[in-house]
Amino acid sequence: MFTPLLAQRMSRVRPSPTAEISDKVRALTAAGHSVINLGEGELDFPTPAHIAQAGIEAINAGETKYTAVPGSARLKQAIIDKFSRENGLSYNAGEVIAGAGAKQLIFNALMATVNPGDEVIIAAPYWVSYPDMVSLAEGETRVVQCHEADGWKLQPAALEAAITERTRWVLLNSPNNPTGAVYSEAEIKALTDVLLRHEHVLILADDIYEHTRFGQAFFTPAQVEPLLLPRTLTVNGLSKAFSMTGWRIGYAGGPKWLVDALQVLQSQSTSNPSSISQAAAIAALDGGTGFIGDWIGRLAERRDRVLASIQRINGLTCAMPEGAFYLFVNCQGLYGKQTPDGKVIADDFDFASYLLDAAKVGTVHGSAFGTPGYLRIAYAVDDQLLDEACQRIEAACGRLA
Ligand code: PLP
Repeated sequence: MFTPLLAQRMSRVRPSPTAEISDKVRALTAAGHSVINLGEGELDFPTPAHIAQAGIEAINAGETKYTAVPGSARLKQAIIDKFSRENGLSYNAGEVIAGAGAKQLIFNALMATVNPGDEVIIAAPYWVSYPDMVSLAEGETRVVQCHEADGWKLQPAALEAAITERTRWVLLNSPNNPTGAVYSEAEIKALTDVLLRHEHVLILADDIYEHTRFGQAFFTPAQVEPLLLPRTLTVNGLSKAFSMTGWRIGYAGGPKWLVDALQVLQSQSTSNPSSISQAAAIAALDGGTGFIGDWIGRLAERRDRVLASIQRINGLTCAMPEGAFYLFVNCQGLYGKQTPDGKVIADDFDFASYLLDAAKVGTVHGSAFGTPGYLRIAYAVDDQLLDEACQRIEAACGRLA
């Protein structure tokens, strides 16, 4: 037997908890169970036909070779146009880059800038990958806990209190995964006012859920406070807006020195994102978002159905989310209850495990997002499956004593 010889840095990173839940769901399904996965951050809608067609045409036209590392000139232009048209942000070709998902760009941004001991401020509840990326970059995550009573939004005073001379980045994410919170223009302004006073701090705006909102307007920090443009990386992608998670295209706009560094890291790791996906991305970005109204309508119906179901369960509460496609459910009212086989629900992990074992419904416990006491339900799944999942959750909670 060969002893694994892993590098020390592997001790600083854990597998993504959401990917772990999906693996468990797959294993249970393979063992013959009918499991419904409400753990995955993915829309069930197919990629719109005109976008998929552009990918097919790229294959047929032989667009199957290396491109420039940060994406083809045409894709970069589509990204520049998108930022200008939808966000009022003006970038030139040296200030934008495409990568294999927003995830790669955020990862590379941290790797390119964080020195050992540098601090990165992350508001909890946070996307599961942020802290591990910071650890891999040898930085220290400084979690600022947000509260349900504040609509899960980072408060300016809490941000101010968290900034030290070692702060390298502040990560902002609106609409938020997992809470669905969408920051208003005034709420972003209150945060950018704080950040204006701390010139050594970089700002990463993770705008990946920009298009998934239920009526609220969208604002991104560099748009609200253009003075921050020279130290803001605005990250976005096609995964959520166009239901293109598998195509792996994300993009970012920011100062040239930073975008150059992202390009160097990409050139020595993955090179350009898939040429075929780039062609599809151009069709997506240039083709307008006319179909999104229909998607939002369908998501809002699902959100309401799951919310109503949650509200029927004694011990669970959840506020109406403003965006994304998640419910962040308070499950503390169930603590101390007993499952039919005698286990006591002591925390959010126990509750998520109970739902997976007893109801065969996969969800993600709030601790994975840095906020124990809650459960994230991703409701962007087929209507019938969703109804079935709700019935199973209600029935399983009904069996708690
Ligand atoms: N940022 C947040 C908040 C996310 O929830 C996700 C995916 O779930 C990503 C970034 C990564 O998206 P991509 O598929 O573009 O890598």
